[in-house]
Amino acid sequence: SAKSLSKLLSLGARRGQMLEIIAEPAIAGDALPALLAAIEAGLGEEVEALAPVVEAVIEVMAEPELVPPAVGALIHGVAAAPGIASGPAHIQVLREFDYPLRGESLPIERQRLQQALANVNHEIEALTQRSPAKAIREIFVTHQEMLADPDLTDEVDQRLRQGESAAAAWMAVIDAAARQQESLHDALLAERAADLRDIGRRVLAQLCGEADVPAPQQPYVLVMEEVGPSDVARLDPQRVAGILTARGGATAHSAIVARALGIPAVVGAGDAVLLIAPGTPLLLDGQRGRLTVAPAADQLERALAERDRREQRLQAAKARRLEPAITRDGHAIEVFANIGESAGIEAVVDQGAEGVGLLRTELIFMAHPQAPDEAVQEAEYRRVLDGLAGRPLVVRTLDVGGDKPLPYWPIAKEENPFLGVRGIRLTLQRPQVMESQLRALLRAAGDRPLRIMFPMVGQLEEWRQARAMVERLREEISVSDLQLGIMIEVPSAALLAPVLAQEVDFFSVGTNDLTQYTLAIDRGHPSLSAQADGLHPAVLQLIDITVRAAHAHGKWVGVCGELAADPQAVALLLGLGVDELSVAARSIAEVKAEVRDLNFEHAQKLARQALLQGSAGAVRALLETR
Ligand code: PEP
Ligand code: MG
Repeated sequence: SAKSLSKLLSLGARRGQMLEIIAEPAIAGDALPALLAAIEAGLGEEVEALAPVVEAVIEVMAEPELVPPAVGALIHGVAAAPGIASGPAHIQVLREFDYPLRGESLPIERQRLQQALANVNHEIEALTQRSPAKAIREIFVTHQEMLADPDLTDEVDQRLRQGESAAAAWMAVIDAAARQQESLHDALLAERAADLRDIGRRVLAQLCGEADVPAPQQPYVLVMEEVGPSDVARLDPQRVAGILTARGGATAHSAIVARALGIPAVVGAGDAVLLIAPGTPLLLDGQRGRLTVAPAADQLERALAERDRREQRLQAAKARRLEPAITRDGHAIEVFANIGESAGIEAVVDQGAEGVGLLRTELIFMAHPQAPDEAVQEAEYRRVLDGLAGRPLVVRTLDVGGDKPLPYWPIAKEENPFLGVRGIRLTLQRPQVMESQLRALLRAAGDRPLRIMFPMVGQLEEWRQARAMVERLREEISVSDLQLGIMIEVPSAALLAPVLAQEVDFFSVGTNDLTQYTLAIDRGHPSLSAQADGLHPAVLQLIDITVRAAHAHGKWVGVCGELAADPQAVALLLGLGVDELSVAARSIAEVKAEVRDLNFEHAQKLARQALLQGSAGAVRALLETR
């Protein structure tokens, strides 16, 4: 209301902004010109007239117009999951639906809604039966429960009785429920809100009579903005040959999931890929992060031949997965596994792991509905050590806070969680949590090789406090083969490595965080994370400083971020002198094979050259020509 000062203020209108004024028809003729004149005159305040630059500003800010990529176009994205894929494009974008706000009649709208809900339920039923994984089936059960939620359907019915259309009533209720959950700033509830919106859209599509564009019959390349967890649940790995996303980086959900499923993927390829016409043949190279639109026949043939060769190499690599990784000139590097749970450790060893290089203990904490007590933790750690049968276990102490909250451990909201109280900063503030974790670890280890490392260390004092805690506990619980180290994830820790190396037993470089903090790019940023490439020479410099410092004091260095499994990065990390690579279990055989193909002396020269480059792109180009 233009009569209310507080309402006018709450508009938050600023100089130069455009206002739209609406009036009742009866007064519009007089009121609108009077209001307009009053606003232009400054509403009683002295104002400078606006210079006529508004349009120019708008023009400067306008987004460049996107055009669909041409036939034969080569598009660069982020190499997210290795492998070569070809097939027709199947584009999945969130569609906008038009629907009337008012319904035809109550019985008709009720009937429409019932039918739509039944159809979606049926669709989910079919997907559930097709899904082999329990975790995926559980997502669908949640969706079915949401569809049947009486609170939701009651609210929708109330709106229908007020004359709204089924689509309008349904979406208003879903939107309000999702918003309410999102407003609680709880990661778990936010995920549920995403699920609610997901089923909300599916019912709406039914109501608007628009079924999903059917997927091609032959294996296709799925093109999406970003792949969310429930999209993945819907993926049929038999039919999805490759994944291409417009947004996201190598550590984004879509990338991690694609690697887990073994589907070649290129992510962060830019919004123009969403404009590719459905059915366009695509050739995707997940190793080099490249996409060719409608490739020429000979190009496709060459790529497919390379795919076959790669498949053969993989088979050969698998056959030798249990052998050590030694370069052609006799330099050995250890290949360990990253794990997040104690179950399945035997399978990890069978995939060739020479040890565990990163046990993400927060995932064990997250898998429990309440904080696991000391005994529960001890049993979990003991299971891993038993499965490793004498191989080393590198455990990271609880790394939560910031972007990784624990549902049962409320943490004050922060403006900048990645720069906030996370990792060691948090556990040092709650020493009883860290102490009980350390006790559980020491008890589980006994005389087996245990390496404990602390995440997010940026200051010498943090390391010393953590070490003091372990040393105190060691007096009560005896262990015979313990090493203590830190993760190098914060640039200050890398730069301080010459000092830290005098006191730690080892370093493990967490390239995911080290890259985000060095390049000042949020690793999950929707459009920038594609540039958060761990092969950036600035990140390599920090790894170089770390390795030199460690070796000068006879200490070892591992790399446990996603970069360690990047086939292009293996040569460089080896050349920089890294002693251990820790990767997802399914990558172990391939990383070992990569090492066996290399010459250490050559890799060292390559690493020196890489350090002199000016960008990650230049480093990758250098590696291409090796
Ligand atoms: C890293 O930061 O590289 C790392 C291994 O830790 P996380 O990905 O769990 O943060
Ligand atoms: Mg990290």
